[in-house]
Amino acid sequence: MRLHAFLADFHTHKNMTNSDHTPSSPASQLQHRSLAAVWHPCTQMKQHETYPLVPVVRGKGAWLYDADGNRYLDAISSWWVNLFGHANPVINAAIRDQLEKIEHVMLAGFTHEPVVMLSERLKRIAPGSLGHCFYASDGASAIEIALKMSFHYWLLSGQPQKNGFISLQNDYHGETLGALSVTDVAIFRETYAPLLRPCTHVPTPDWRYAEAGEPAEAYALRAAAALEHYLAEHHAQTAALILEPLVQGAAGMGMYHPVYLQRAREICDRYQVHLIADEIAVGFGRTGTLFACNQANIAPDFLCLSKGLSGGYLPLSVVMTTDKVFQAFYDDKTARAFLHSHSHTGNALACRAALAALDMIEQDQVITTNTRKTAYLNRIAAPLAAHPKVRNFRNCGMIWAFEVETDDPDFAAQCFEAGLKQQLVLRPLGKTIYFMPPYIISEQEMDLLVDGTLHVLNTL
Ligand SMILES: *Cc1c(COP(=O)(O)O)cnc(C)c1O
Repeated sequence: MRLHAFLADFHTHKNMTNSDHTPSSPASQLQHRSLAAVWHPCTQMKQHETYPLVPVVRGKGAWLYDADGNRYLDAISSWWVNLFGHANPVINAAIRDQLEKIEHVMLAGFTHEPVVMLSERLKRIAPGSLGHCFYASDGASAIEIALKMSFHYWLLSGQPQKNGFISLQNDYHGETLGALSVTDVAIFRETYAPLLRPCTHVPTPDWRYAEAGEPAEAYALRAAAALEHYLAEHHAQTAALILEPLVQGAAGMGMYHPVYLQRAREICDRYQVHLIADEIAVGFGRTGTLFACNQANIAPDFLCLSKGLSGGYLPLSVVMTTDKVFQAFYDDKTARAFLHSHSHTGNALACRAALAALDMIEQDQVITTNTRKTAYLNRIAAPLAAHPKVRNFRNCGMIWAFEVETDDPDFAAQCFEAGLKQQLVLRPLGKTIYFMPPYIISEQEMDLLVDGTLHVLNTL
């Protein structure tokens, strides 16, 4: 199965007919001004000649409201970032409070309480013993940092030839050139291939690729054997294995057995290769545990976090690493330092948003509450899982996904349009429909999500 082809129409959508924007309506005006001045991400702009943008003016909880007063359930958490809903009062209050103190100060030569508190808390909750936090703004920047740090560590340790990276087939790690080099999603990669570093993508443990009747664990072990086979030969030139733990998001929410992570950790240790866990999408409870690595009881050498880190409010990312790596850079010579920076590194407002999000994760027992929500949605989704058009219905924590049997090359666009008519933001990855709702979603909203999706399947 070539999952890559599924992404071809990932970013298109058609006219949303439930919101009858007249040419002069506030919604319509915003759409036109946006198309005249904003270059939208990951979008063929010309398609918006026929397919209008959704002009959002406010959000509340799991809902987005457009300029004409229509509302849509944000079933994909605004590209997987939002954990506690839009306009969350706790996060709003934290940001307001911080705004009156200091909005931002450079982090070289300066420090501030929010960044110190956040780093201390992340150290306490992260898997293993990751002693220092290095900040950036976006997920892709965190990946660049982890790759550079890993290579630099081996350089400082007298092994400059360890400068290669490997990742999993179908992995996604972002779209800046270094991150794209370790990404294996053709639609993002192919055009820029001449600009990328070579990277080996080892076989994915994604259970959808298993032989008929092969259990997820057996298939994951087979993929791990392929990893070992590769590293046995190439470890001397390999700095790190980078992977998306448990769920390969952009590849269509491919899910795999945690035994792969256990084996990958053992194999990386055996061959002296770093393990970089990209938990940008799956961190902070998304897979049912605080971090996906917890399910395999492993600790990575580098942990990359972003998206939900600030509750999805502000751009913030972090790379956490071990004392062993940190100490290799700790020296009298400036040249041995990690000379990397972004202007907004450790932004105080973003750190306060993150502290507020962590407060809610810890005090409100979100992981436990989510377990009940997961069970509820799995129960009410039984008709969806059994629907004749649905294949591979699967779930991991607060992520659900399934493939839809369809010949329509325009399926993702049609589904998005039909979803809006049901008040749902569904944005299929090719033929994969997925739910990744904010944690504050109620049972009533989950009912609406499942009923609306069934309706979409029956009308397409
Ligand atoms: C989204 C994502 C990234 C990139 O993060 P950006 O903030 O979009 O740059 C990297 N890795 C994974 C697993 C992601 O889901």
